[in-house]
Amino acid sequence: MGKYLAKIGLEMHCEVSETKTKVFSPARNSYSDIPNSNVSPIDMAFPGTLPMVNKEAVKMALMASMILKCSQPEYFYFERKNYYYPDLPKGYQTTQETKPIPSGIYGEVEFECNDEIKKVRVNNLHLEEDAASLDHYYATSNIDYNRAGVPLLELVTEPDLHSAEEAVAFLEHMRSVYQYAGISEADSKKGQIRCDVNISLMDASLDEFDPNNWGTRVEIKNINSFGGVRDAINYEIKRQTEILDKGEEVIQETRRWDEESGTTIFMRSKVDAIDYKYFVEPNIPKFKVTKEFLESIRASITELAMERKKKYIEKYGLSNYDAKILVKEKDVSDYFEECINLGMDAKTAANWVTVQIVAYLNKYEISIKDFYLKPEYLNQIISELDKKTISSKQAKEIFFKSLEEEKMPKTYITKDNAQISDINTLTEIIDKVLSSNEMQINEYKSGKTNLFDYFVGQVMKETRGKANPSMVKDILKEKLDN
Ligand code: ADP
Ligand code: MG
Repeated sequence: MGKYLAKIGLEMHCEVSETKTKVFSPARNSYSDIPNSNVSPIDMAFPGTLPMVNKEAVKMALMASMILKCSQPEYFYFERKNYYYPDLPKGYQTTQETKPIPSGIYGEVEFECNDEIKKVRVNNLHLEEDAASLDHYYATSNIDYNRAGVPLLELVTEPDLHSAEEAVAFLEHMRSVYQYAGISEADSKKGQIRCDVNISLMDASLDEFDPNNWGTRVEIKNINSFGGVRDAINYEIKRQTEILDKGEEVIQETRRWDEESGTTIFMRSKVDAIDYKYFVEPNIPKFKVTKEFLESIRASITELAMERKKKYIEKYGLSNYDAKILVKEKDVSDYFEECINLGMDAKTAANWVTVQIVAYLNKYEISIKDFYLKPEYLNQIISELDKKTISSKQAKEIFFKSLEEEKMPKTYITKDNAQISDINTLTEIIDKVLSSNEMQINEYKSGKTNLFDYFVGQVMKETRGKANPSMVKDILKEKLDN
């Protein structure tokens, strides 16, 4: 271990994409539509409008808190965070500051990093609204209020992470939780995930859980990709190490990640910190979170990635490696589950999904949702393979042909390309081949046994590749070795 231990705490913002409407208004929660088409007077803060809390969003926030092993509050209420910016028409953000979930008791998340289980304490999870989005052009900027009021979950961890690798593994874990729980698509490419990274270095020989031993932290704001989080952390660890090695002190400040230069850049120091003058949102009455409400939410939590992975290994006998690939994206795992429900053999299906399908999706950068071969179509190929009417080589050809021409695999499984597996037909063909190769037979019998492959090749040639190769080998052995 080096001289310093990095202490990293994340503030992860994730848009809740799975509610129909926004968190305080009846406008559609779908900001990628035509700009400014999903905007209600409430989102624009027109005088006289009043917010309405979206029960679905509250449910999802509480569900997330349960999955993260947080305690749930007895009362739910919101606060105003006051500041002005053009993307915030109200002049304040409706959020939860003093009484977020888990209300004083830490939650805890377990996640995997390089096949090791790591733990992070959750300091705070709260529901708030997103701001509008600003699109900057050469001489103008456009404001799109579709995003104003989209529900946002902010998760704040304790500084229990120690490297860029761990931070990214944690974020990937959380993305998977949000996807599996049906809370969000959690797609960072769509800007649904944004992170602030807090990072400091401490003396590695001291107790890392005693805050007195922690170093001065730097906050890096608004990173919108996991790659950005990784690079920013690595850059900042290096920058702070150099400062400490020179015997200088790290200054507490807010920096931003600059993708282009690959560096963090000074934004503001602690003395410039904004005072948001929080106060309780008077237009949303505080409401009680009943036991029944919590129980109904708890009962609706679905199977998450870690549980599915365990099932794949223990029940279906898959390798840890395959199980990991299958559960990484919920849509891929759902596809695999459908294959199982159709009665496909788990190992065969897993093999097709993890090898052929995932490679295809990566190559063409498409989601499995847009993948032409639905599980029932894959099943058409696999069941013919099981019946031995096609060879595995043909199965692959049909797979790609079917994808290319977007036609059901069945279309290509004709009598014409069907594998020859009939023993009488094969014996006839083999006899014919052998009768025209007497010289080679003699050589074979006198010890040149590597000629065996030659005979197999001749039979394959004769049948234009359609003979069932393992049957051909069996029959040939029988004929040549006796
Ligand atoms: P603020 O009020 O400035 O937002 P918080 O106490 O809410 O500060 O902490 C913000 C984040 O900074 C949390 O993720 C927390 O874990 C992290 N953090 C706090 N102290 C340190 C530290 N010394 N080093 C690294 N991260 C830290
Ligand atoms: Mg904070």
